[in-house]
Amino acid sequence: MPVPLRRALSAAILAVLILPLGCSTALTSKREEDRRMSSSDDVSRSTHRWGIVIHGGAGVIKRESLTSEREAAFRAVLTEALQAGHSILAHGGTSLDAVTAAVRVMEDSPLFNAGKGAVFTHDGKNELDAAIMNGRTREAGSVAGLHHVKNPIVLARAVMEKSPHVMMIGAGAEAFAKQQGVELVPESYFYTEERWQALQRALEAEKKQQQTPSEQGQPQGPSTFWEHPAGREHKFGTVGAVALDQAGNLAAGTSTGGMTNKRFGRVGDVPVIGAGTYANERCAVSATGHGEYFIRYTVARDICSRMEYLDLPLLEASHQVVMDILVKAGGEGGVIAMDAQGNVAMPFNSAGMYRGYMGQDGVPSVAIFKEQ
Ligand code: ASP
Repeated sequence: MPVPLRRALSAAILAVLILPLGCSTALTSKREEDRRMSSSDDVSRSTHRWGIVIHGGAGVIKRESLTSEREAAFRAVLTEALQAGHSILAHGGTSLDAVTAAVRVMEDSPLFNAGKGAVFTHDGKNELDAAIMNGRTREAGSVAGLHHVKNPIVLARAVMEKSPHVMMIGAGAEAFAKQQGVELVPESYFYTEERWQALQRALEAEKKQQQTPSEQGQPQGPSTFWEHPAGREHKFGTVGAVALDQAGNLAAGTSTGGMTNKRFGRVGDVPVIGAGTYANERCAVSATGHGEYFIRYTVARDICSRMEYLDLPLLEASHQVVMDILVKAGGEGGVIAMDAQGNVAMPFNSAGMYRGYMGQDGVPSVAIFKEQ
C-alpha cells in the first residue's frame, strides 16, 4: 500500500477509536464546567463595551477568619481601585492608564501583598515584582527583585515605554528607576507588622517540621518550604487589573511581594510575561496564586491561546486552565480575564479571591468568597 494511503487509513482508524472517548470527555467536562460556573460570579458582560476587572489575591480567605471591619476595609480599597481605573476609561483614557491607576491604589494599601504591605522573604526583606502589557501592541514591561520602588507597576510601565527591554531586575532596575524619576523609598516603607508576624509563623512552622523525626527516625528536610514557602498560610494577596477601553484595546498589569518566606532571589509568575500577566488583541489576563505552577503552565498565555487556537469563549478557556489543568497539577490560585467584547471571567480554585468589576454603567461589584 502506498505510504500516503497507509497514513490516511491509520488516521481514520485512530479517529474512529478516539472520537467516542473524546466526545464523552467533552460532555463530562462541559457538565462539570456548567456546575462550576453556576456557583461562580463570572458574567457575560458583552452589553458593556468597556470596563475594568481587578483582583487583590487568592488563597485561604474564609468568611469566619475575616472580621466585618476588615472585610469592609478590603471592599473599600477594591472599590477605590475600580473607581480609579473606571474614571480614566470613562473619560476616554487608555486601558493601560486604567490598569496602572487601579494597581497603584492597591500597591499603596497595606492590606495587599504588593507595594506597601508586601510579604517578607526568608531573610526578612521585601522583594517586589510587577508587570504590565499592552494588548494592542504586545509591548510589555516587567521588573523583579525590587527593594526601594514605591510603585513597581510604574517602573514596569517605564521599562515598557522608556527602554528597549522587557524585563529588568534588582539593582539595575532600581538604577533605571532613579534615572526615570520613578519614586524610591527606604526599605522600611514596606514594613507592616502583620506581614512580619506571618513570616515569623512560617519560620517557626518550618523549624518545627525540620525537627520532627520522620517515620525512618531521620529529621525531616525543609519540605514545607519547597511545597509552599508560607507553610499552611496560603494567602497570596498579589494585586492585578485587566481593562478594555473605549477604543477596544486591552491591557493587563500585576504587582506582588511574591510569597512569604521565599528565598534565594526567587522570582514568581507575576513578572514572567505569559505566566502571571498577559494581554493581546483578544484577551487580557492577570493571575494570583502559587507562582511556580503559573510559570510551568504559562497560565495567562494558555488562556489566550485556547481562545485563539481552539476558538473557545473566554469563560471556557479560563475555567479549563484554572479549574481543571491547575487543579490537577496542584496549583492553587485564580485569574481575572477580559476579552475584546467586554466579557469577564474570574475563576479561582482556592477558598477565596479578592476581586471586583466595573463596566460602563459605573456600578462596582466586589466579591471575596466563593459564595457571596
Ligand atoms: N503569584 C505570586 C507569586 O508567586 C503570589 C501571589 O499571587 O500572591 O509570586
